[in-house]
Amino acid sequence: MMTMRVLVIEDEQKMADLIKRGLEEEGMEVETAYDGDSGVELGKTGRHDLIILDLGLPGRDGLAVSRHLRDAGIKTPILILTAQDSTEMKVRGLDSGADDYLTKPFAFAEMLARLRALLRRTQTEDTTRLQIGDLSLNLINRRVSRGGSEAQLTNKEFALLEFFMRHPDQILSRETLSEKVWEETFDTLTNVIDVYINYLRNKIDRQYEPKLIHTVRGIGYMFKTPQMPSRMVAESKAS
Ligand code: CA
Repeated sequence: MMTMRVLVIEDEQKMADLIKRGLEEEGMEVETAYDGDSGVELGKTGRHDLIILDLGLPGRDGLAVSRHLRDAGIKTPILILTAQDSTEMKVRGLDSGADDYLTKPFAFAEMLARLRALLRRTQTEDTTRLQIGDLSLNLINRRVSRGGSEAQLTNKEFALLEFFMRHPDQILSRETLSEKVWEETFDTLTNVIDVYINYLRNKIDRQYEPKLIHTVRGIGYMFKTPQMPSRMVAESKAS
């Protein structure tokens, strides 16, 4: 089973660390941000399955964080934490693009139940879309975007990207790609694949970080799921 990755954006460090420990005990991987700006930075990487967002944050508040992430094309489910038990704040939270809310103080078991429900909802709804990091590919309208900006792909580039996204973190030989994407054996024409990879990199990878398409020398390519760099966690704690 894939490890769930959760981002906790909460300025009360004790609360943030408590949530982090609790979720880690459930086998989840957790990153924390103690203010809105670093929360946006981490959230925009798109590498989380869930975001827990406190509304009252210094600087950019929770509502602004949620709106900013949605405007950037990030679809990660957001659970809002609010101390205010007012209907207005809940409505504003949901209007900002969040998916659910929880009023403080809350029982940890209830938070877990809400998170699981959010995950189930997005997993069943999302059979039409592939998402890896901040890259998303819509199988219905065939739109592709990275970091919120749309990329125009040809049919062959789209097919190649779809194949990559369905087989992340696997070494894919040029032979495999020619058979599965071109449905032909290229033999002497394997450089056609390199040409298409180059087109694809120019459209969805070259100007972004981290790189998703990696060359595996002498063999082919690997489409890598972005990892959580511990460096970024440390930086967000320092700020
Ligand atoms: Ca707060």
